[in-house]
Amino acid sequence: MMQQKLTGIERGWWIVSLENRVWLPQGELPLGTASQWSLQGHIAQPIGEWEGETVWLIRQKMASGMSSPRLLADRDTKLFQLVGRGVQLAEFYRSHHFCGYCGHEMEHSQYEWACLCGHCEERYYPQIAPSIIVGIRRDDHILLAQHQRNKNGMYSVLAGFVEVGETLEEAVHREVMEESGIKIRNLRYVASQPWPFPNSMMVGFLADYDSGEIVVDPVELICADWYHYDNLPLIPSSDTISRRLIEDTVALCRQQ
Ligand SMILES: [Zn+2]
Repeated sequence: MMQQKLTGIERGWWIVSLENRVWLPQGELPLGTASQWSLQGHIAQPIGEWEGETVWLIRQKMASGMSSPRLLADRDTKLFQLVGRGVQLAEFYRSHHFCGYCGHEMEHSQYEWACLCGHCEERYYPQIAPSIIVGIRRDDHILLAQHQRNKNGMYSVLAGFVEVGETLEEAVHREVMEESGIKIRNLRYVASQPWPFPNSMMVGFLADYDSGEIVVDPVELICADWYHYDNLPLIPSSDTISRRLIEDTVALCRQQ
């Protein structure tokens, strides 16, 4: 949307991002005037508001201090979401210089986050990849697994990407069967969380065990088992949807 050249007096939070990195001088997101952070002359666009201040995106790299947005995952959820928006928009514009259909150079829409091809009139939007995540309860136990994709000793609930032509509910049943070999029932929606690594939308559910014995898919999981709610292994500590689903399941286990 509307871009402008900074004069120096503009104020707010500064998301300087390129190639899935974000500028965190002193490990924090910069707040203040553009001149305070020597950003005058750069091209910026407002992408939101947080704590009464404009959140700006500048799509470029700084010489130092470019970090993973994961470093902000344990901060305020809304701030983390806006940083995720900035990082993903920067990637979107970087990967859409040319039209995928006819190869002509594209322009940025002035009205929405989109790229337009003036030649064939195709319009492109940032891609969001929906994925499901589900907390499964069996009496006073919860199903937790160690995932191959994060080898940090952390246990979490099951998750996976939604496939083309599939409902969210179908994706949950399929992923749970593929990864753990069990059937679930009583599936219900809980909450969602944008997850900018690189462009997921996590859709969170709770479910109850129905039938079957655990058979781990070794491609996806290192191990998986039922854990008593009083005796959980290492679980995600930050303010994430997987933590929320584990806590909700534990609360249901206690009521048993
Ligand atoms: Zn085109």
